[in-house]
Amino acid sequence: MGVDLEVLRQLKQKANENREKRAKRGGGGRDNRMAPIVYVPAGTTNLRFYMDSENNITRTFFRHKVGQDSVHCLHGCPVCKYLSDMEKKYPDFQGAWKLGSRETTIAYAWIFNCSEESKFVKLETPVLLMGNHKLGRELNDHIADIDEEEFSKMLDPLTVHAMWELKSGNNGRDFSLAPSFKKATMDPMPDTLYPLSQCIYPVGQEPTAEQVSKFIEIINEAYETHIKTVDPDDLKASSDSASEEPAVSEEEAPAPAKAPAKATAKPAEPKKAASAKAAEPPAAEVSGDPKECFGAHPDGIQPECLLCPDEGSCEAATAKAATN
Ligand SMILES: [Zn+2]
Repeated sequence: MGVDLEVLRQLKQKANENREKRAKRGGGGRDNRMAPIVYVPAGTTNLRFYMDSENNITRTFFRHKVGQDSVHCLHGCPVCKYLSDMEKKYPDFQGAWKLGSRETTIAYAWIFNCSEESKFVKLETPVLLMGNHKLGRELNDHIADIDEEEFSKMLDPLTVHAMWELKSGNNGRDFSLAPSFKKATMDPMPDTLYPLSQCIYPVGQEPTAEQVSKFIEIINEAYETHIKTVDPDDLKASSDSASEEPAVSEEEAPAPAKAPAKATAKPAEPKKAASAKAAEPPAAEVSGDPKECFGAHPDGIQPECLLCPDEGSCEAATAKAATN
């Protein structure tokens, strides 16, 4: 007496649906169209790069990112618009650049070894390597200079070819990429993997209203914390005379030590100075002694962390401590 054939079919169908759902979510059963994401590791890494199914080696996009929250930044980005309004209103907020749009590079790679191994670094498997603008620019410059024959060998996984030596330190501020003397082959890239154009944010895909409003909330939290640190008298003065006389004094800035002697008054100038600061790479922000809480970065968004110049290295130190 077997089970009804129809019941069996239904059970199997359900099981298949569950598997597909899981694959889409990228949970337990990983979506085989997605490679593990590896951020450019600290230390020295030996790797090779792949060409994707659309014949691309790298892709660059802009995004806003704080902790786990990120927003794809496209032309006419509502987050940029909101930030620039806030910068106009509170030109002395030093943490604004952390909320700004940053250039990100992705590339498929095979990592042979890494001096700072951690659970976040996946060795000897195709990975989606993610880095800042330096990764894209360095790789691009090498490709521009390489001769054709060499280039074709470099892109053939089964040809023995020089590994790249990628060095990253000082929380990404120091970065170099150069061919090394070591040579190796790697496994071919599975053709199931998404092309780079479809990874992280598909090219041209607008962020959802939800993602935008979540990020605006984060911006508001950061500014609220900033406002609380500013002397209430100065704040009152600045909001009373918003359009005429920005009166917030230099001394109230969260990082007074390195605040330049910025001219006051002139309505147009504070905004210009603020957006120039936002465009600067984080390398400009080097702090002295880290705070007592360094290395114990809390989960999620902490407005006070946004104001901390060491947040990036603190996060890295926390992650590293967690793996030991
Ligand atoms: Zn933006």
